[in-house]
Amino acid sequence: MESEEREKWLLAGKIGKEIRELGVSLCVPGAKLLDIAEAIEKRTIERGAKPSFPPNISINQIAAHYTPKYDDKTELKKGDIVKVDVGASVDGYLSDTAASVAVGEEGNKLVSATKEALDAVIEIMKPGISVSEISTVIDDKIRSFGFSPIVNLGGHGIGRYSLHEGEFISNSKNYSGSFLRKEGVVAVEPFATNGGGYVIDSAEVQIYQLVANKNVRSTLGREILKYIAEEYNELPFAKRWIINKFGRLAEIEIRNLVAAGSLHEFNVLKERDNGLVSQFEHSFLFDDGKVIVTTL
Ligand code: MN
Ligand code: MN
Repeated sequence: MESEEREKWLLAGKIGKEIRELGVSLCVPGAKLLDIAEAIEKRTIERGAKPSFPPNISINQIAAHYTPKYDDKTELKKGDIVKVDVGASVDGYLSDTAASVAVGEEGNKLVSATKEALDAVIEIMKPGISVSEISTVIDDKIRSFGFSPIVNLGGHGIGRYSLHEGEFISNSKNYSGSFLRKEGVVAVEPFATNGGGYVIDSAEVQIYQLVANKNVRSTLGREILKYIAEEYNELPFAKRWIINKFGRLAEIEIRNLVAAGSLHEFNVLKERDNGLVSQFEHSFLFDDGKVIVTTL
């Protein structure tokens, strides 16, 4: 890998770690989700990066894909299990990292289960390792705490301007027979729950992604689509960002762009049995036969 490229992956990881830790530090009783998300976004930009995707701040039974609404009033309560999942983009070189907190509590077992699962992965990680080896370590660790891994969420390869590509790294034991790349970046993200271990789409959507640049009839729709293409490329973005920029009418245009096939929706994901969910995630860089955890 060229050194310039390596430096950008590493910087994206370093900023990712910083904004994850900032987010976690703000998860206290009474804190507003919107304030936490905006603080993370502000810091990302101050560091000369852009968000890889909107900060996901998902509470309790919500596993992922929640980012605050433009007028979100939600406040954290003591005992909430909060997943802070964030990433930084440095010229399209991305990080993706997450941590969980039990608000106002120490030593929560569900949080420890996913933290220890990810720590166990760090111990064995190397370029070209088999996917099933990682999945087994995650599954065993989470079950040793008496919880279930979420089977339909998992790690993934990352490319430039591409948050999910290539490998899928399951959180449950499998015989996939596939191997991780030897050069480049992957994210590993154990999820644990006291539910059955399966997430489903809820009706709510706060995060979107450009998938096709089709003709749009309305002037505002065209303007929004152009902005999305220029500002986010094909990385996920928040409805809140578009409303803040273009006003409330943008909400209707977003719906039209989805219907026209220009935007993909990321539904908010919930645990099927309403189990509580925790998650940790790191990005790993493989280069020259070695592994670096860029977000550690
Ligand atoms: Mn993530
Ligand atoms: Mn991820």
